[in-house]
Amino acid sequence: MRPTHSKPIDADKAQRFLSGLREGKTLHVLCSGKVNGKRVSSEIIATHIRFREYCAEHPDFARQANALLAENMKAANARRGEFKRSQTHCKFGHPLSGDNLLIEGRTKFRRCRVCMARRAAAPRPPSEDQIQRATAVLNAGQTISRICWGVINGKKVADRIMSHPKLTLLRQRDPEFDRLVSLSRPRVRRQPTKILLRRNNIITPEMAEYNQIANLVPYQLPRDVRDDVIQSIFLAIIEGSLQRDQVHAHVRQFIRDHYREANRLGVGKYGLVSLDAPIFADGNMTRGDTIVRGLWD
Ligand SMILES: [Zn+2]
Repeated sequence: MRPTHSKPIDADKAQRFLSGLREGKTLHVLCSGKVNGKRVSSEIIATHIRFREYCAEHPDFARQANALLAENMKAANARRGEFKRSQTHCKFGHPLSGDNLLIEGRTKFRRCRVCMARRAAAPRPPSEDQIQRATAVLNAGQTISRICWGVINGKKVADRIMSHPKLTLLRQRDPEFDRLVSLSRPRVRRQPTKILLRRNNIITPEMAEYNQIANLVPYQLPRDVRDDVIQSIFLAIIEGSLQRDQVHAHVRQFIRDHYREANRLGVGKYGLVSLDAPIFADGNMTRGDTIVRGLWD
């Protein structure tokens, strides 16, 4: 323990400690006088070292004081961040509520969208140090993901050097730096099939065949419709009425049949609508036509 020149605590000061703690004050207040970051010397009773000394010599006092301290600490922790939590407006006066409020996922930081947009549109210029570090990163063959997000090959490896708006500003102002960035583009693009293989781990021959056929049915269709069409195609293949290599040529027919059947049964999304009925009173284009034309032309 460091030597201290203050006087040891007497019974009177010990009582003041206990009553201060009962009022909900923390040791931080009673030993250093810090109230909301400001020093209030009238609050100070004794140093922290003297308090611990007195506790060691008076177990009864220590028990009472520590119990109160634990409670006060809990309350103080609950008060933490209260200022930020209860802020109704950002420091530029924009409301921190409704559409303007962004609550970050992990940290729960409350952010003002107007200010975020303002900063993104007119960022402060990067410092000399930031420029040097970014240049070093590019010279080492790394890309802007390392500069703006600290990411190399999809993995977070360090803190960012500068935000993307700031980098864009630097590129506009410094053509030499801009050239360096253009040279740093990743040369090899990953093959989509490799990603698929990695995500699913194993693709069985059956799955590969299913995907091959399912891919011929347009993704723009509503999901339930698409599933039904795929199912009908497989059924036809199993029954032998459709050859595998003929699927592509007959997909349109399967989609048309599906809608015709759904409408005949009155289970289509819009109830009982005839595909052959004209859509507009003054034309002869039918609903059936729009399906085929919309998807394939
Ligand atoms: Zn704001």
